[in-house]
Amino acid sequence: MAKDFYEILGVKKDSTQEEIKKAYRKLARKWHPDINPGNKEAETKFKEISGAYDCLGDKEKRKLYDEFGEESLHSGFDAEKAREYKKWGAYQQQGAYAGSGAGQGFGRYESYEDIFGDLFGASRGQGRGFRTTMSSKGRDIEHEMSIDLISALKGFETEFAMQGIKTCPVCNGSGMDPHSKLTTCPTCGGSGRLNVAEGPIQFTKPCPQCHGHGQIGRPCSQCGGSGQIMGTERIKVTIPQGVKEGSKVRVAGKGEPGLNGGQPGDLYLIIHIQPHSFLKREGDNLLMEVPVTVGEAMIGGTITVPTIDGPVNVKVPPKSQSGQSLRLKGKGALNPKTKQKGDLLVKLVVKVPKTDDKEILETVERMDKFYLGDLRKDIRL
Ligand SMILES: [Zn+2]
Ligand SMILES: [Zn+2]
Repeated sequence: MAKDFYEILGVKKDSTQEEIKKAYRKLARKWHPDINPGNKEAETKFKEISGAYDCLGDKEKRKLYDEFGEESLHSGFDAEKAREYKKWGAYQQQGAYAGSGAGQGFGRYESYEDIFGDLFGASRGQGRGFRTTMSSKGRDIEHEMSIDLISALKGFETEFAMQGIKTCPVCNGSGMDPHSKLTTCPTCGGSGRLNVAEGPIQFTKPCPQCHGHGQIGRPCSQCGGSGQIMGTERIKVTIPQGVKEGSKVRVAGKGEPGLNGGQPGDLYLIIHIQPHSFLKREGDNLLMEVPVTVGEAMIGGTITVPTIDGPVNVKVPPKSQSGQSLRLKGKGALNPKTKQKGDLLVKLVVKVPKTDDKEILETVERMDKFYLGDLRKDIRL
């Protein structure tokens, strides 16, 4: 048997990722071929160390290695199938078949090789009409969606078409031609389910031979026996009010279909929000730049400001400055988690009239005398 990766790196099974990294660095420095030119032993050692770290240095790979050993490093290794296989193996040993007519050897499998062929995604099972044996949940799918800020703030319902793997409508996912002569499945005796015992726990699972249908027949011509086809589906979705950039909106059951009676996966819409010309979201607050006249800023007045809930009258206090913000409580974005609304900050931007009117310009010149002290006294680098 090959040497244990933990042994190679000289770390304990419960070492942290940080400790593993340190141990690897130390060893790699010692055995690096550049430091040991022409040294065959160093070369082998370095390869060993790198191989071990390649696995243990990666949290996910390490977890699988701990559970399944080196088998987990083969390309195409399927952890879910391997786990199922462990259960399968457990009940084979105990002879715990409850269904009738079954119980010889490995059920649909004829040898261990078949089981491992399946485990590593090989295509041994093909040609017999049935593809895989284990029921599993369909994979989740992610889909990017770009929306404008106002739609994101208000929330909306939409419908779109999506291309993807669907359950075959001809055989309804069974992989069997519905017009072929069906015979009772010998593995489950027609019940479609098998009782499985693992230690003291009894549970049932879909029969691997008939995919839970209780009967077997010719492979479906539409899907070639896989039970799945490529197709388009119209999907209705509600984008919740206040959705943020990067949010994932889950659409249950619209991922890839499950295998052999397994649940379908979910669809996740990853939301991207296009920038708006004068409205910006910061946390749950909204920032809006609103132009005001010199008069409105100096004398004060009431201006109308658009909000998500409709227009609102806002009092601009006298002697307001350009850049000053007015806070409108609860007029910001809805936080989809807390259901609390942020505030709307209205930033006043004073605009000067573009005029050459002599009288006005003289008045403004007089006005300039009313600034107290040096306006730019703090503007120093
Ligand atoms: Zn089909
Ligand atoms: Zn069956």
